[in-house]
Amino acid sequence: MFAFFEDLHTSLTGWIFETMLQPVLYAIDMMDIADEVLEWVDFALFGVFSILVIYIVCRPLEALRPVEPVSNRRAIRTDITYTLLTRLGIFPLLAFVSLSSLRSSLEGLLADTGFIAPTLETFFPALRESPLLTFFIYIVILDFGEYWRHRLQHRFQWWWALHSVHHAQRQMTFWSDDRNHILDEVLAAFWFGTIALLIGVTPAQFPLLFLVMRLVESMSHGNIRLSFGRIGERLLVSPRFHRAHHGVLSVGSQGQNYAVLFPVWDSIFGTANFHIHAYPNTGDPAAPEALATGNWLEQQWVGLKRLLRRPPSA
Ligand SMILES: [Zn+2]
Ligand SMILES: [Zn+2]
Repeated sequence: MFAFFEDLHTSLTGWIFETMLQPVLYAIDMMDIADEVLEWVDFALFGVFSILVIYIVCRPLEALRPVEPVSNRRAIRTDITYTLLTRLGIFPLLAFVSLSSLRSSLEGLLADTGFIAPTLETFFPALRESPLLTFFIYIVILDFGEYWRHRLQHRFQWWWALHSVHHAQRQMTFWSDDRNHILDEVLAAFWFGTIALLIGVTPAQFPLLFLVMRLVESMSHGNIRLSFGRIGERLLVSPRFHRAHHGVLSVGSQGQNYAVLFPVWDSIFGTANFHIHAYPNTGDPAAPEALATGNWLEQQWVGLKRLLRRPPSA
């Protein structure tokens, strides 16, 4: 099944490149960047695929069980812009690839000394026999990293200045997952990419990891009246669980429900709130209006200004 998509992806990438882009590059005498353009098509197609998967899962749920009526379509269009820019601009994958080439050149340097960088499978050789278990452990470790990155986004004022772009949305939908400041995306990509490399995620495993994690994340932002029940709420982040994090009263350092995939981190570190059965309004009352309803560029600009006005160590 996965091999089928891989083949389809490779042929589509080749077809788009050869029929649409190669002739243009040739005509404008830019064939020397052909490899980079091909790589970008490769990632962008994956981005389109990830958006399709999310849309197919989340859109029907939003239509069936909305929390609130849509009152500001323009705000949603801004979030769609965020999603397209992020997924097609390929920040996470790009960071991973650049780090991956960094790692291989580092390994090349160390090869003479006989040193091999340790990974999860070096410490637990049995994992080589069970790729599914390895995949799950990778997700758990990466999710632990995401929980702490998110805690710090709320903890440090300079980081909050950037993360408040994400929290300013009053019309939250599954498109809101990618509503982040561009600098925040870069930080997130390096955070995630570094952990992925340290534990030995290979470039081949990365797309599926990314797809699974981002699907749950997008769904948790959906305008969907859905909780996973008494036990389920403790196993996987639901739209109810993450909406509590985005609620107008929970914004700031007294936050709750930081987990991205597994609420267990919130239980362990004392930030879980499983008792809210209401679906609060979302948004950040302290944020300037432009951060909530401005266009993409205005929000980026306001985010940057808020960052620069704050001392970096605060
Ligand atoms: Zn947050
Ligand atoms: Zn969120």
